[in-house]
Amino acid sequence: MQKGQVVKLDRGYPLVRTEHGELVRCEHATALVKGEEARAVIGDFVDVDVPEGHDKGIIGGILPRTRAFVRKDPTERALPQVLAANFDRVFVAQPLADVNVRRLERELVLAYETGAAVTVVLTKADLAESEEHAVAVRDRVRALVGPDVRTLVVSENDPASIEAVRALVPAGTTAVLIGKSGVGKSSMVNMLVGSAVQETTPVRDDGKGRHTTVSREMVAVPGGGFIVDMPGVRGLGLWEADAGIGAAFADVEELAARCRFRDCRHADEPGCAVRAAVDAGELSAERFASYQALKRETDELRDRREEARRMRGEKASDRTKAPARKGKPRKKR
Ligand code: GDP
Ligand code: ZN
Repeated sequence: MQKGQVVKLDRGYPLVRTEHGELVRCEHATALVKGEEARAVIGDFVDVDVPEGHDKGIIGGILPRTRAFVRKDPTERALPQVLAANFDRVFVAQPLADVNVRRLERELVLAYETGAAVTVVLTKADLAESEEHAVAVRDRVRALVGPDVRTLVVSENDPASIEAVRALVPAGTTAVLIGKSGVGKSSMVNMLVGSAVQETTPVRDDGKGRHTTVSREMVAVPGGGFIVDMPGVRGLGLWEADAGIGAAFADVEELAARCRFRDCRHADEPGCAVRAAVDAGELSAERFASYQALKRETDELRDRREEARRMRGEKASDRTKAPARKGKPRKKR
């Protein structure tokens, strides 16, 4: 048994770098996959066994994760999906000339929820109309993310611009990169590495990035740590996100703390400090609306999870109540 880390996922098969530096393609031990939540993701530390005469290693255990990037599984009603584990920083990439504030808010919630350090990267700065435009967008985003989060600006045409990103991925750390397809994530990785290690997505005529399935991989940054581009992260449904929402909407939650009722829904309750702030123009109606929408999304998911748990519970009790007719009687010794 050796320890290792999943450095790449290729068609579902984890590629593990063992403590001896070997790269071993692995599968999961059957006993492991039976349990819930038991598939190794990129960044996971694992116990791996390479049986004599086997071409694949076998992952027998996944070590507890220090951090995980979790979204709602887009194909399931109420199941989480872990996309990456054990990283130190999340870079949220948005195109400077076309920032989608609603999407940025959601990405920030997911990023904050992991507990990792968060940095916003505004990409393709060369596409800004003017220097003034670029500065205005940057300041608007900085106001949105608050004083604790850095907002960097990069451009493919300006190699020096990537250095501020590089400085945030020092040796011994891992960063993950999230953002819509086509925002320039692969290009950033290639700039960091100094060569084309990551396939870039050609932009379609309508300016939208094309979806390409590229394997997820930990890429070594020369002289630094690792960066994981998370391509194809299309649906970003929230999973547990109370802490993330609290961090991404600290301004709204501060106001909410001053509502007359502790469980104020900020609808038509008297003494609602949030709505008062909207009316006074201190909080934008759009930001309030997206806060409410993200809250609703997590609340609904919580309800569904509860429901799923109840159903599982009922089934489990049915099983225990049912007589074990089919089971062979155990031999007495
Ligand atoms: P990803 O899908 O987020 O990995 O995006 P890519 O890195 O593949 O970039 C999508 C497209 O945007 C490609 O055609 C890139 O050449 C282009 N692109 C990336 N960075 C820049 C930039 O700084 N400036 C400009 N003008 N285009 C860029
Ligand atoms: Zn209220």
